[in-house]
Amino acid sequence: MDEPNIIPEFEMLGPSTGHAEMIARFHCPIGCGWRHDEPADPGPGRIILPVGFTATDLSGAMSLNAEAGWLAFRSRVEAAITDHFETAHPGY
Ligand SMILES: [Zn+2]
Repeated sequence: MDEPNIIPEFEMLGPSTGHAEMIARFHCPIGCGWRHDEPADPGPGRIILPVGFTATDLSGAMSLNAEAGWLAFRSRVEAAITDHFETAHPGY
């Protein structure tokens, strides 16, 4: 069974749209006008490498890091949306 995906479409805002940082802007999936801005670039995460690391270690550590960042990002967005539904659209 697929994991339910409650994350709606979002727009990316950034320097090209006059925003200082990259922001993912989520709109209410049923269009009530609510929106949630989530910084899309939380900055460089901590990368832990063994002494005498190789390029393979580095790329492995970076993708693990990116995955952890994405999971954290996704859970913040899901929490915001769940919260919005509970307050604005109870029982939807
Ligand atoms: Zn809404």
